[in-house]
Amino acid sequence: MGYFIDVILAIPVERMFTYSITQAESEFLQVGMRVSVPFGKSKIHTGLVGAIHTNAPQIYEAKEIHQILDETPIVTQKQLEFWQWIAKYYMCTVGEVMRAALPNAFILESETLISRNLKKEIKDTDLKDDEFLVFEALHHQSTLKIQEVSSILDKKNVLPVIKRLIDKEVILLQEEIYDKYKPKYVRYVKLQAQYTSEIGLHQLLQDLSRAEKQRQVVMTLFSISAKTKKPIKVKDLIEESGASAAIVKALIDKEILEEYHIQTDRVQYEGEDNEATKALNQYQTEALKQIKNKFETQNVIVLHGVTSSGKTEVYVKLIEDVLLKGKQVLYLLPEIALTTQLVTRLQNYFGEQVAVFHSKYSAHERVEVYNNVLENTNTAKIILGARSSIFLPFHDLGLIIVDEEHEQSFKQFNPAPRYHARDAAVVLAHLHKSKILLGSATPSLESYKNAIDNKYGLVEINRRYNNVQLPDTELVDIADKYKRKLMKGHFSDRMIEEITEALEEGYQVILFQNRRGYSPIVECNTCGHSPQCPNCDVSLTYHQYRKQLRCHYCGHNSAMLQKCMACGTSNLDTKGFGTEQIETEAKSLFPKAKVARMDLDTTRGKHGYEKIITALEQQEIDILVGTQMLTKGLDFRNVKLVGIMNADNMLNFPDFRAHERSFQLMLQVSGRAGRTDKRGKVLIQTYNPYHKILQQVSTNNYLDMFKEQLQERRDFKYPPFFRLIKITLKHRDYNKVETASDWFAKSLRQVFKTNILGPEFPPVSRVRNQYLKNILIKIPQQQSLAKTKEAINKINSSFEAVGPFKGVRVIINVDNY
Ligand code: ADP
Ligand code: ZN
Repeated sequence: MGYFIDVILAIPVERMFTYSITQAESEFLQVGMRVSVPFGKSKIHTGLVGAIHTNAPQIYEAKEIHQILDETPIVTQKQLEFWQWIAKYYMCTVGEVMRAALPNAFILESETLISRNLKKEIKDTDLKDDEFLVFEALHHQSTLKIQEVSSILDKKNVLPVIKRLIDKEVILLQEEIYDKYKPKYVRYVKLQAQYTSEIGLHQLLQDLSRAEKQRQVVMTLFSISAKTKKPIKVKDLIEESGASAAIVKALIDKEILEEYHIQTDRVQYEGEDNEATKALNQYQTEALKQIKNKFETQNVIVLHGVTSSGKTEVYVKLIEDVLLKGKQVLYLLPEIALTTQLVTRLQNYFGEQVAVFHSKYSAHERVEVYNNVLENTNTAKIILGARSSIFLPFHDLGLIIVDEEHEQSFKQFNPAPRYHARDAAVVLAHLHKSKILLGSATPSLESYKNAIDNKYGLVEINRRYNNVQLPDTELVDIADKYKRKLMKGHFSDRMIEEITEALEEGYQVILFQNRRGYSPIVECNTCGHSPQCPNCDVSLTYHQYRKQLRCHYCGHNSAMLQKCMACGTSNLDTKGFGTEQIETEAKSLFPKAKVARMDLDTTRGKHGYEKIITALEQQEIDILVGTQMLTKGLDFRNVKLVGIMNADNMLNFPDFRAHERSFQLMLQVSGRAGRTDKRGKVLIQTYNPYHKILQQVSTNNYLDMFKEQLQERRDFKYPPFFRLIKITLKHRDYNKVETASDWFAKSLRQVFKTNILGPEFPPVSRVRNQYLKNILIKIPQQQSLAKTKEAINKINSSFEAVGPFKGVRVIINVDNY
């Protein structure tokens, strides 16, 4: 009898592959362990054991595995079930889910490295264009990975090019495998045993009387250990004693000190959990009571609480309860980089039990959090993380909190799996028999409808903490202001008055503009030409600070033009405005104020965002200009005024959710104003002051917005009444995309008759030199979702078999929010 395992590989292939193992291996292996296996010609891949059995595969002969990589499973049974669900629901392979779910460092692969064949003379003219690009890159970098070649050539299948280069003896190949995760060891020192007694130490200090610096180090060591009783890091000893590393080393060499190493997590919380959680006010208490009651019978609850109503403190009480039961908590946030304030708040309450799963963490740091969750250590009881943290190996989840559940960044666009973390979290909670709370001041239509329909529970808090009033919102008609010449740059007279007053009273101001850069369009006043990105079908944005034109789709940049490229005159003008221009104008209108900017351009790097937040908190900034980054759950005491510079570009965005989103965005930014005793003020500049969404924002009328938008969704067949699946076809060749997408849409129409939209070019129809065309499938409630997906998969398989469509990429996006 033979023994076999089915293995999941982190590549987009449909099925698992069967490998043969020995009897001993079959006794040792468990589902969820990693093995390395040969795959393809010479490659070694990391695979995950999905099943162990004795059925030989029918159509191929099973290869042997290469190596067993784990001693115990690193993926739990529940995770595997969850992966299966994601793959099925979001129409991708389990391998793709695995790729997203495991820290990169877990997926070792033999990597093919390409280097230049230095023994061979190459003439540039012997090489085709793409060959030359690779050859040239090898002059800057001694080796290239296949993936790097892929991005240099901007295409997926680079093997033909590489093969040609090998044939021409231009390059050489080598295979390498590495273990990507390295545990971190910290160096510690202690006194050798013979010196730990009082007599021994006394003798030692006498012996060292002529080596004053060494003596100092020993004294310091002694005094630290008397104080802390904890192991002493070499780093701390050097710092405390002021000695050099060489002196410590000399003591080690003389065998006075003994050095040793301990494996340590890279991220550790060193503070204390010395703060008691806050006593709730009557509204919070009532909400907490209702949540607990409803959790008796319902698993999902929507908490609709106005901004600053103190939702977080309610979460904290729920977390406390779950911890007492020894269970884990997942606290999902839209963007973890934006939540330093929250991390601190939770750490003050729960100390080292809080683990953060951070997109800006290094690969090593992620492995450590993953392992801590898997081992259910005390340092991973509350996991605070962005969407990908739903993939952690939870043991025993008791509660999931999805904060700001309406946020669109919970949905992953690229690459697959294109999952929505909120929706997937509901399934995850179900697998763990855990409760889940969806919190927001502006719930998504989907969640609120589920609550109204009694599928979810609903709990509301309508007051801000401390009874602070919601800000007073005023709409400013800028069409009128322009006509009456009451605008200075993009600031209306009302905006200037209110800013002046707020600053005079010592308050801070937030100005919101939904676009970064200086101005989105540069145009020639003579011939009307405006510079476009060479790779994308979109105009370039002017960034004044760097004097650059940049593409916000592919990152292409070039120096700002002095002359029009078409007609050569220097009559260039800029249209539209972004955060950078508002910042510049604010500086000149309010020369005494300290003005800063928060957008993608100013918050790069690990701590970029934190620095600005801290500066605002410490009132080193008077006016902060920013994009929607400003909306994310920030709690500033001293901001009295929020100005929205232009509401119209949000409202007019071509998307069926534009109105819902604008409402959410504006209400969230407004919520940053007046968080303490003084009532806040919000000014919204617009050309359409009678727009119903703006009216609803200014009266804080969520319910009206909800009802009206819901009606529109019903009328126009959109979610939550219809489900959407978007299919995008993508290729460098315009005609190929045209014919391929026509074929695809026609096949869909043959099956579904109605409710197929497109194919249509999106507003930006070429990105990174690839043309895009979309087909939208609307699925009514009575139509089986599973059958629909089956049909799509079938069409997709036939599509892949059509010769002329080779190379056209098909991207399927389920619940394209
Ligand atoms: P939300 O998440 O609903 O916008 P927060 O939880 O951030 O609101 O609360 C707003 C502010 O009120 C915070 O500064 C918070 O510390 C404070 N706060 C909320 N509840 C309490 C409470 N029970 N006791 C003291 N302060 C509270
Ligand atoms: Zn571009």
